[in-house]
Amino acid sequence: MTLTGEQTWPNPAEWTGKIYSEGWRTSEGGIHQVVEPATGAPLARVGHASPRDVERAADSAARAASEWGATPPSERAGMLMRAVGALREHSGAIREWIVRETAGVPAKGDYEIAAGLAQLQHAIGLASRPLGEVLTPQSPGTTSLAWRVPLGVVGVITAWNAPLLFAMRALAPALALGNTALLKPAPLTPVSGGVLVAQLFREAGLPEGVLHVLPGGAEVGRAVAADRHVAMVCFTGSTPAGREVARVAGEGLKRVSLELGGKNSIVVLADADVEAAAAAGAVSSFGYQGQACVAAGRHVVHTDVVEAYTEALVRQGEALRTGDPREDGVALGPVISERQAARIERIVEESVAAGARVLSGGPREGLFYPPTVLDRVDRTMPVFTEEIFGPVAPVIPVRTEDEAVEVANDTAYGLTAAVHSGSVPRAVAVAQRLRTGMIHINDVSAKDAANAPFGGMGISGNTSRIGGTASLEQFTQWRWMTAPGP
Ligand code: NAD
Repeated sequence: MTLTGEQTWPNPAEWTGKIYSEGWRTSEGGIHQVVEPATGAPLARVGHASPRDVERAADSAARAASEWGATPPSERAGMLMRAVGALREHSGAIREWIVRETAGVPAKGDYEIAAGLAQLQHAIGLASRPLGEVLTPQSPGTTSLAWRVPLGVVGVITAWNAPLLFAMRALAPALALGNTALLKPAPLTPVSGGVLVAQLFREAGLPEGVLHVLPGGAEVGRAVAADRHVAMVCFTGSTPAGREVARVAGEGLKRVSLELGGKNSIVVLADADVEAAAAAGAVSSFGYQGQACVAAGRHVVHTDVVEAYTEALVRQGEALRTGDPREDGVALGPVISERQAARIERIVEESVAAGARVLSGGPREGLFYPPTVLDRVDRTMPVFTEEIFGPVAPVIPVRTEDEAVEVANDTAYGLTAAVHSGSVPRAVAVAQRLRTGMIHINDVSAKDAANAPFGGMGISGNTSRIGGTASLEQFTQWRWMTAPGP
């Protein structure tokens, strides 16, 4: 792939310092500066939405909702097909933005683009899916019908780690099913998670007023969640912020979909292919600097193979170069911010002070944190109890499958897990005892698919799921009608 060093699309003259609300326009909340994590250099300036901007956008989205909800499915599908075309056409520039703004390597940009395309393609089918039932009427000679209708205005609040994907996985189905939307991207990534998304849908011919992009911080998210026109809030982010969003939205009796944090285990049974399991473990803990809700935060390994597994994990981690993600051969970019880097460091230092041992990795240089493997970890240490969101792999030995299940389930989170074994039925039997919304056999913990229900149990969510049939349920509601006559 080629990184040009220039942002060729979309034209910065159109959107710099602006929000997207019935076209690009100057915001009342001022300007928000975006910085490139790898260099600390200024990268872009976007508009910062004010409370009045949010109110105006929600009014506009509410006005647009009845017309957009009534457009024939073929028109909505056509818009999504054009969005697929636009995403493909601009994939080079989009990859560059993702690399520079989220500090992921180019392959991470490619992944987000492919996953975004998959979300749009899947949503094309949703637009024309049959959405109702003919019911047996209570009285002869009458008709009873039930069908699903759009919710109206959907508020989408996203995290910074896969900003394009998080916007697409909510907006593609929400728009396909006839809703309008307010998108509030994370303040660290308002271009990849907001500006690019607005421009793609604009080029796809989405009518003005149907989608508004409102960059800003938590206060803008709160305003979106609280607005009287917003019928549903689709939130991707941390568990504490999700709790607050749920409280604010609950006041307005809105539907809330929460995709929150995780403390995910790679479970390695005694008969596993150790090299393959360690490769999956390394990808799951170190890929994109471990900054994924679905990253592996625990390696729960049978004592028979723990030495070989740990050695392989250390070796594979040490082979990964950390540096500017735009440079060839770099596998890990910097972590996203000083706040995140200091948090990872604190979790490791406190765990080491409590007796954990660093086998590889170690001190960071600024935001650059090398792949780090720890052993001698016990269940009271922060590295075991907290979501790390950094390239740190704690290894915990277990003597039995029962103990593996107990250790993996020893968390209030319940997002995802992976189980490795030479016997798939054996792995499946263990997997079925894990309390997670997603589970993968002989694979990484970090997977997603547009046609699969993504989401977690416990404090990883509120039982909502996004993707596939789940999106159909999330972004519509039932209406029942009876009428005289057949
Ligand atoms: P965050 O919770 O700080 O922010 C997420 C978004 O919510 C941002 O847009 C932020 O501005 C907004 N926000 C924050 N506080 C808010 C409030 N009180 N009201 C309304 N909006 C608010 O999370 P982050 O640091 O951006 O992302 C990291 C976290 O997100 C991790 O915990 C990670 O596991 C989780 N995450 C979950 C998923 C998932 O699909 N389950 C995906 C990615 C990230």
